[in-house]
Amino acid sequence: MFSFSLFKPEAQLELSDVDARLARLSQSGYRNGWARRLCELALQARREGNYGVSALLCRGDEVLLEATNAVFQPHWDSAAHAEMQLLNCWERSVVEGRFKARELGALSLVSSLEPCPMCLSRILMSGVRHIYYLAEDPQGGMVTRARHLPPAFRNLMQCTDHGPLRVDSGYSKLARQLARHGLAQLRERLVAQGQGGQAL
Ligand SMILES: [Zn+2]
Repeated sequence: MFSFSLFKPEAQLELSDVDARLARLSQSGYRNGWARRLCELALQARREGNYGVSALLCRGDEVLLEATNAVFQPHWDSAAHAEMQLLNCWERSVVEGRFKARELGALSLVSSLEPCPMCLSRILMSGVRHIYYLAEDPQGGMVTRARHLPPAFRNLMQCTDHGPLRVDSGYSKLARQLARHGLAQLRERLVAQGQGGQAL
C-alpha cells in the first residue's frame, strides 16, 4: 500500500511568492544562475499541474537544454520526469545534428531535485558523467543511495562526479518546497492512475 505519512509537514509554499523570494537570493556566479533557472522552471511545471521539478544540461556556464516534469500535463506520461525529458531532448538533438554525442561526457546535468531511481539509471546509461542537484530527496532520491545500485550501475556511478550543487542555500530550500508543493494531491492522482484513473 502507498503511504503519505513519511512526508514531514512543511510550511506551504505560495507559488505567488516564488518570484519575490528568487529576487532576494544571490545572483552571483553561474551556479546561482543555474539554480535560479531551475526554480523558475520548477515553478512553471507546478503551475502547469505537474510535479515542481526541472533539469538543465549545461556546457561550462552555458545552459544548452532545459526541461520540466510533464507526468500529468499535457497528458499522462509516467516516464516524463524532468531528467528523462531532458535526455530525450538531448538524444533527439544529436540525431538532428545540433550536438555531437561525444560531447555529453563533458556536460553537467543539473536537477532541481535529487534524481529518482528511474532517472539516475537513465542518466548513467546515457553517458552523463557530471550529476548535480539543488535539493536532496530523502523519500525518493537515488544518488545518496547509490551504494544500493546493482553492480553494473555502481560501476558507472564511480565514473561520475555527483552531489548537491554549491549555491545559495535559499535556492535548495525553494527547490525542495517546489518539489513538495501539491505532493499529496499529485500522489493520489498517481495511485488512481494505477486503478483506472478514477480520481482524475
Ligand atoms: Zn525521476
